[in-house]
Amino acid sequence: MTPVIALVGRPNVGKSTLFNRLTRSRDALVANFSGLTRDRQYGEGKLGNRDYLVIDTGGITGNEEGIDAMMAGQSLQAIDEADAVLFLVDARAGLTPADEMIAKHLRIHNKSAYLVVNKLDGLDADAALADFYELGLANVEGIAAAHGRGVKALINKVLDEFPKPEELTELAESAEGVEEQQTAEIEQEAQGIKIGIVGRPNVGKSTLVNRMLGEDRVVVFDHAGTTRDSIYIPFERQEQKYTLIDTAGVRRRGKVKEAVEKFSVVKTLQAISDANVVILVLDAKEGLVDQDLHLLSFILESGRAVVIALNKWDGMDTEMKTQVKEELERRLGFINFARIHYISALHGSGVGNLYKSVEEAYQAAMSRWSTNQLTRLLEDAIVEHQPPLVRGNRIKLRYAHMGGSNPPIIVIHGNQTSEVPASYQRYLENTFRRELKIVGTPIRIEFKGGE
Ligand code: GDP
Ligand code: GDP
Repeated sequence: MTPVIALVGRPNVGKSTLFNRLTRSRDALVANFSGLTRDRQYGEGKLGNRDYLVIDTGGITGNEEGIDAMMAGQSLQAIDEADAVLFLVDARAGLTPADEMIAKHLRIHNKSAYLVVNKLDGLDADAALADFYELGLANVEGIAAAHGRGVKALINKVLDEFPKPEELTELAESAEGVEEQQTAEIEQEAQGIKIGIVGRPNVGKSTLVNRMLGEDRVVVFDHAGTTRDSIYIPFERQEQKYTLIDTAGVRRRGKVKEAVEKFSVVKTLQAISDANVVILVLDAKEGLVDQDLHLLSFILESGRAVVIALNKWDGMDTEMKTQVKEELERRLGFINFARIHYISALHGSGVGNLYKSVEEAYQAAMSRWSTNQLTRLLEDAIVEHQPPLVRGNRIKLRYAHMGGSNPPIIVIHGNQTSEVPASYQRYLENTFRRELKIVGTPIRIEFKGGE
């Protein structure tokens, strides 16, 4: 899972400045989700090959009455949503009572927390930091967010607490990894196919969840689990096990107070990461909007299998239906491998048919092909279309094997593979997809070997 880092602190300590630095290269979610979440901003960042998610909060002034009021609302929720909390203070302003209250709250909150002393530029770092030690937080880091000083080291430190992606990859490639993968597969079997239901607010997720679980032939097991804010609901339908990841909070137990707002970006992104197949719900009455496309691109980046459900298909006349259909299929051309369903969660039409596509996408995402078969397809593809010459030498692609599933990864070995142009990679991808009949899931092609 992608680590989630929350920034908290008084106004003006430099949270936004740090946020911008941390998300500079990939801030797509910020612009598009900020309006949905009151005062919190979400952004994606990357350090080396490590992804993380950052939540910025509006700031805590300390003028609110009492610690509860002060930490209530969005900052508290940001802390809840996060794996690690960066608590920013201002070296120039020195220690304030509000800082002390926040620190007290963090100490009792069982979260990995860092005291980040900002605006160290032009100051004596040791003297400035000493001021804040009395807050009693174990991890103290000095930075100058505006100048980028210390920021990389800070994030490195934070990310070091989480497993590195290369460790996971290495593990997957080792014998131990094979065993682990088998264990994972057995666990997977127990939970069945994990389906994430995601979409913008009001597209009809809750209605769809209720409809899916309310079907006659569905047996819902009464041991729903909770991870963060999403509810995991195990059920069985026609002898197939599933676990539905409900981001809309339909089955939330009554006693939990509605501190959690209905739509949460983190919840949505985590549900996508954790699902095998995502059902992306769209609203036929509103058509495809930017937020839909951002969710879709996140699904693709995560490599999840996907089924698109265009909801609210009831009450539209034939002419409108044709128009909406054409428009959608044109604009979704870039993921023409995903099935599109036209449904009405309200009336139930088309809902049962989603399963067929979910299953098909899951099978494709979990498929394994032998080295033999993949290598043969690779050889045929090369005969059809040779890879290009690089400085007079032809790129050689020798063999291919599976490197993972959900999404399927096809690893191709050869010479000068770093020179394979994107267009040729696309050609190979399309060939594998066509020949192996891969529907409903993204696939990845990775190259290995000699310069
Ligand atoms: P926020 O309210 O916590 O989000 O704070 P901002 O990021 O908006 O920053 C508040 C002010 O502090 C702005 O004028 C920033 O330019 C300034 N600031 C932020 N980081 C630094 C820094 O590292 N050094 C200095 N000298 N000023 C900074
Ligand atoms: P969520 O925020 O995505 O969980 O959306 P809801 O399930 O709460 O639905 C939002 C609104 O859309 C509600 O008023 C629903 O009754 C309505 N709605 C949901 N599905 C349909 C549908 O298939 N057709 C129509 N006409 N309305 C729907």
